[in-house]
Amino acid sequence: MTNFMFKMLEKEGVPTHLVEEISDRETIVKKVSIVPLEVIIRNVAAGSFSKRMGVEEGKQLLCPILEFSYKNDDLGDPFINDYYALALGIATQEEIDTIAKYAFKVNEFMVKFFKGLNIDLIDFKIEFGKTADGTIILADEISPDTCRFWDSTTHEKLDKDRFRRDMGGVEEAYQEIMKRLMGE
Ligand code: UDP
Repeated sequence: MTNFMFKMLEKEGVPTHLVEEISDRETIVKKVSIVPLEVIIRNVAAGSFSKRMGVEEGKQLLCPILEFSYKNDDLGDPFINDYYALALGIATQEEIDTIAKYAFKVNEFMVKFFKGLNIDLIDFKIEFGKTADGTIILADEISPDTCRFWDSTTHEKLDKDRFRRDMGGVEEAYQEIMKRLMGE
């Protein structure tokens, strides 16, 4: 699913780690060092945002939110802003600007694309990497593990929340997303 998305995003002008898919289970990717930021975009209130801000899940936001967490399991990936990233040397201003530009581009494309599959893109997390020459590219993955996908008609959750919230039907939901992606 990630390779499918990354191929389309490349065409939209977002550079990615994708080199070549060589089998169902193996993909050649560019070597990067991951920028230790979880880059989150939210279109609709859900999850930790709803809890933190006391906003009901499902409320449409007036504009997309870009949010950063510092990738550090021991600290529980704490919420940070640009100033934290700069002050701690996590990223430079130029890198943050590039990451923000690509993240909004990814969102703009994905919202439209998934709408065409009758799916609302609620929010998602992406990660960026730096190649040896310092170029920032999209890395890691885009999948129901890292996005909230709700069916536009029924609002049924078709993502990892089915697992996180013990709702059952996890595999079916992921297969449903894949089926719609493949146009079946
Ligand atoms: N997310 C992720 N990995 C994480 C945390 C969040 O892929 O470690 C994704 C999650 O699937 C959702 C978005 O980022 O699409 C926003 O998640 P949120 O901050 O609401 O955290 P959650 O409520 O999932 O803990």
